[in-house]
Order: sequence, then structure tokens, then C-alpha cells
Amino acid sequence: MGRKFIDCRAFPSVMNCTIAISADSESELLEAAVQHAVAVHGHQDTPDLREQLRSSIRDGMPREEAPTRAA
Ligand SMILES: [Zn+2]
Repeated sequence: MGRKFIDCRAFPSVMNCTIAISADSESELLEAAVQHAVAVHGHQDTPDLREQLRSSIRDGMPREEAPTRAA
């Protein structure tokens, strides 16, 4: 199983968060990302949030350069 990651730099953010989270399994990654979104970004843990995070999961490792933020 490959490495998966979510890069917070890909999200629109007022605080310009540069965190990237990686894990071996999608469920681990999603849990960590939800906790991060709630604790740091003040999101509510909702099915919508989880769906948005799940759709942002990428295979491999975070890049050194920041990805383009979604508008
Ligand atoms: Zn973040």
C-alpha cells in the first residue's frame, strides 16, 4: 500500500496553513485531517467536511513546493 497525504496548502485558508499530513491508510489520514481541521481551522466535524477532505487525498508524499490553493 502506498503512502497517502493531504496538503493543507491546497486549501483556501485565512491563516495560510502549511501543514501536510501523511499516512499509510485513508482512514488514518482522514481521522488526522479531521482533527486538524477542527482543532486548527475551527471546522465542524460533519459528513461534508469529511467528504471534502477525502476528495483531497493524494497518493505519494507532499511536495516541497506549495500546491496552488483552491479558489
Ligand atoms: Zn491546516
